[in-house]
Amino acid sequence: MRIADYRVTRAILERHGFTFKKALGQNFLTDANILQKIADTAELDRNVNVIEIGPGIGALTEFLAEKAAEVMAFEIDDRLVPILADSLCDFSNVKIINEDILKADLPARIKEFANPNLPIKVVANLPYYITTPILMHLIESKIPFADFVVMMQKEVADRISAEPNTKAYGSLSIAVQYYMTAKVVFTVPRTVFIPSPNVDSAILKMTRREQPLVMVKDEDFFFRISKAAFVHRRKTLWNNLTSHFGKSEETKAKLAESLKKAGVQPSVRGETLSLADFASLADALKEAGL
Ligand code: SAM
Repeated sequence: MRIADYRVTRAILERHGFTFKKALGQNFLTDANILQKIADTAELDRNVNVIEIGPGIGALTEFLAEKAAEVMAFEIDDRLVPILADSLCDFSNVKIINEDILKADLPARIKEFANPNLPIKVVANLPYYITTPILMHLIESKIPFADFVVMMQKEVADRISAEPNTKAYGSLSIAVQYYMTAKVVFTVPRTVFIPSPNVDSAILKMTRREQPLVMVKDEDFFFRISKAAFVHRRKTLWNNLTSHFGKSEETKAKLAESLKKAGVQPSVRGETLSLADFASLADALKEAGL
């Protein structure tokens, strides 16, 4: 029997008198087939370390520990620490780290608990209230994670993996796809969780690119431009850029010149621009001194 088996989960929760904290995004998976598929998607073996975020009562952790070298599981809720010690007592390769993942000193923790010569993958059923901050925190940490296999709200997974000219495409697609490839592997109905969340979920697999997808002169500036282009999705690129940089004649002239140089029409919407278009535009704007 698996921890994720509905009756086992219920029994563990009852034995420890555990009550869910909605504010911590606590929706526990009770479908062993789905957990198996997540672990399979991550392609683990004894030469790979795993970071898990939010092990809950250990439903996914169990599958990860069976395959990986070490599993470092960050759990913010200290009430879950004794439960995890109990439910995962058969595994000597799991380290529960009772910390907020957004505040944890990841390089120090990895040095402390993992063989530094092995690649690290992130595998998790994320707390949905902070999906994007967690992903950006991990991606921008510059730790060379090999893959991310993470469950999140389907709507966010669609936004991250979206192509240009779609409704879901936006600054989040650009922020992630700059560093990683991103693909929705399968979707998960809300009914397999307790308690059930009010959204459907998806498993997203992201793999770090050897180099960012596009070369830019200034990364921060590139991300700022891509955000500015989507502030008002229905407005044209020109309107979003003038809202961002200002409407003086001098600024407008620089904007027009930069758009021309980048080969981008001012009348289009941000969603029509690829990452390469945003890179050319950001470089041209930067060169124009904006
Ligand atoms: N992995 C379990 C499963 O699949 O059943 C639980 C997943 S549940 C969606 C999210 C977990 O993340 C909860 O256990 C919650 O306490 C934990 N969590 C929430 N915020 C966190 C944070 N900032 N850092 C670490 N863990 C967090």
